Amino acid sequence: MGIPVRIGIPRALFYYSYYPFWETFFTELDAKVVASGRTNGKILQDGLNSSSNELCLPIKVLHGHIIDLKDRCEFVFLPYIISTQKGSYYCPKLIATPDIAKAVVPGLSLLSVDVDIENFYRSLYSSLKEIASKLRTNPVRIYAAYRMAMERQRIFEGYVHGGALFEDALSMTRGKRKPESAASCPPARDGPVIAVIGHTYLFNDAYISFDLIGKLRKRGARVVTSDALSAGLIDKTLSAPESRTHWSLGNRVIGAAVHFSRRKDVDGIIYITPFGCASDSLIKEYIDANPGRGKPMLVLTVDEHSGDAGVVTRIEAFLEMIARPAARAG
Ligand code: SF4
Repeated sequence: MGIPVRIGIPRALFYYSYYPFWETFFTELDAKVVASGRTNGKILQDGLNSSSNELCLPIKVLHGHIIDLKDRCEFVFLPYIISTQKGSYYCPKLIATPDIAKAVVPGLSLLSVDVDIENFYRSLYSSLKEIASKLRTNPVRIYAAYRMAMERQRIFEGYVHGGALFEDALSMTRGKRKPESAASCPPARDGPVIAVIGHTYLFNDAYISFDLIGKLRKRGARVVTSDALSAGLIDKTLSAPESRTHWSLGNRVIGAAVHFSRRKDVDGIIYITPFGCASDSLIKEYIDANPGRGKPMLVLTVDEHSGDAGVVTRIEAFLEMIARPAARAG
């Protein structure tokens, strides 16, 4: 057997949704998967240096992760994710990430696939065949690798929808952690329950989210996130057509806000959003227009200029506010 082809997967954007799938798929095809490091000051700075100011923070960070990987692997994997649900789409910046990355990181060897539910089998199958040829592997092996990857992703999503946070769910999926020891919330109800909603690639990245989840837990809160809600549950929550947008990620945020507002065990909601996010700029209006919205909600907008002290002040003020009986009654 020759030296395995190394494929880099940036720890950004869809890493937080589909890493178990792609890691399994490539490993089954005898490639070596290399993930970029956790976001840190250097990765962020490299991303900022290479990106236009017009881009949102998560895409700037993506570029830092690509730079971190570029010289450590033959290919960097970055899919064109257009749509994973009929009738809704990912935002144009997100769809175009492979093209933007090629333009801003010179000498990049990209491996891409198209993921488009409207054209699922044709687009995915032809992309996977192309991957097989780049990896110099027999295309016949693709189907078995795909099946294994789907199964691994199903297990991962089961943990996430059961309430585990990303890192816990990934460890459990890999068998590195026992499922029962990794519950994201302790069973005892001694602190407030805070729902953190927003884009998974923002609140699961401790560096760019200013460790929002860690800070809440340190202050005694139990945290649930919008990741725990399946696509089916979001759809059911937003059954009225006027309650939803064309954007998949926006719908997830609106659906999560409405769902957690209705839940009696949730005391407050923190909506974390990156400055410059085009789809998020509309979302708060949709949330407010949905009937039944009554829970205290903090909208926390972050960018590369935000400071840790400012985030701490806002979280502490919010926790103090919801500790008052009048707020809890709402
Ligand atoms: S949805 Fe918002 S944060 Fe995500 S890539 Fe698009 S503009 Fe950026």
